[in-house]
Amino acid sequence: MRYKKRVMQTEETAPYDVAVIGGGPAGATVAALLAQRGRNVALFEKATHPRFHIGESLLPKNIPILERLGVLDAVKAIGIHKPGAEFVSPDHDSRQCFLFSDALDPNPPHSYQVRRSQFDAILLNNARRKGVAVREGCAVSAIAFDDKTHRLTHEAHDGTTECQARFVIDASGRDGLIARHMEVRQRNKSHNSAAMFAHFKAVPSEAWETPGNIAIYWFEHGWIWLIPLNDGLTSVGAVCMPDYLKSREGPLDEFFFQTLRLCPKVWDHLKDAEAATPIRAAGNYSYSATEAFGERYLLLGDAYAFIDPVFSSGVFLAMSSAELAADAIDKGLDWPKRATRYLRTYQRRIDRGIARYSWFIYRFNTPAMRTLFMGPRNVLGVRAAVVSLLAGDIYRRGGLSWRLGIFRLLFGASTLVALKRSRKWEDRRRRFRSIIMADDEVAERS
Ligand SMILES: Cc1cc2nc3c(=O)[nH]c(=O)nc-3n(C[C@H](O)[C@H](O)[C@H](O)COP(=O)(O)OP(=O)(O)OC[C@H]3O[C@@H](n4cnc5c(N)ncnc54)[C@H](O)[C@@H]3O)c2cc1C
Repeated sequence: MRYKKRVMQTEETAPYDVAVIGGGPAGATVAALLAQRGRNVALFEKATHPRFHIGESLLPKNIPILERLGVLDAVKAIGIHKPGAEFVSPDHDSRQCFLFSDALDPNPPHSYQVRRSQFDAILLNNARRKGVAVREGCAVSAIAFDDKTHRLTHEAHDGTTECQARFVIDASGRDGLIARHMEVRQRNKSHNSAAMFAHFKAVPSEAWETPGNIAIYWFEHGWIWLIPLNDGLTSVGAVCMPDYLKSREGPLDEFFFQTLRLCPKVWDHLKDAEAATPIRAAGNYSYSATEAFGERYLLLGDAYAFIDPVFSSGVFLAMSSAELAADAIDKGLDWPKRATRYLRTYQRRIDRGIARYSWFIYRFNTPAMRTLFMGPRNVLGVRAAVVSLLAGDIYRRGGLSWRLGIFRLLFGASTLVALKRSRKWEDRRRRFRSIIMADDEVAERS
């Protein structure tokens, strides 16, 4: 990517070891870890924290990472204790509760639900404290990839500046600065979905069986999440099938409430609640880049790939990838001849994690998956393996792969039993593969 803008100032500093684009969980984590290893790191964030972001439900395997970063107490102070996940189906009378304490490795047996404005600010301030040169309100607009150091152009209210770095990390989230400019981002052909969401006030506690859980309610056109947050707020979002989204006629806020009403078990809890934020939508969120790295640059977190929010895996994948990336980059800066090998290992590892979730995500709305989730049996520890997946224990060696293999066999059998309904669902999924909603849309509640 060549920079085209007129550069007004050049930083007088020597090149940074690493420049990070984006101060979300991925960028803030990798920057803090590299600074902790003595690297000279700059981070550019186009927004100013605290800022709204969706993605509030964390996984238990996030907790050791937060501990290693030294921010666990701060997160605990703003978080709601999350012991598990519960599922509600229109075809079943009782809800199904999966507690993290039942996972193959039950440690830690809980996680947290967090307001991302607060959580992301904690992570970014931590990076700053560790010595990262953090610039907020400063968007990277171009990168010139050169032989020895890359040059970044960044724009803030006081003008356009250029700096140099030996290594560049793109952690710009859905913006995916490098992947888009290099045209290596591809839409996920197996999954096409979009979400509408907002924070609500006064959602009654009966919406959850176990306080603190994420509750997932299936309905005819997809599923709806309820995530309890601090200050009496609840994150409410609907992830819908493409044909339903195509049917939208009115403005976003009307469509969102119309959708919530289509799920009576959710609407019962929301009818007296009140939206406390604008209604937002995220479309076309399922994508990945063809490569996670190139010559002294790397794509991290959502800037590399995102599939779907259903397993609340986004922040965990972003932060666990950041740990792997920090290790690969740090070693590669010391041993340039081996850098590609380290980066390849990074990509292999994160691809494995994403693949583990993808199989479940693509089938999440099928009748067979609903049946298995709503009537789980712990034969040979299969239920515990599913809980491990919900807990983010995806890199685990021993016991997980073969149990998930058995789950797949059960899924196949369950599909055959409900063949007619399964075929109907598959037809519905295949019919709409085109863009179904703008990338980002915001509507005030009228
Ligand atoms: C509908 C929905 C619901 C979700 N729910 C969950 C959930 O419950 N749990 C969960 O774990 N995950 C969830 N996710 C996923 C989660 O939001 C992301 O995976 C996570 O935020 C990824 O972190 P990141 O740091 O890679 O990107 P981000 O958090 O998006 O951070 C990227 C940052 O880069 C900045 N940036 C962008 N461009 C530039 C630029 N040019 N220059 C400088 N800065 C720039 C942005 O301002 C932003 O702060 C959800 C996602 C969606 C779409």
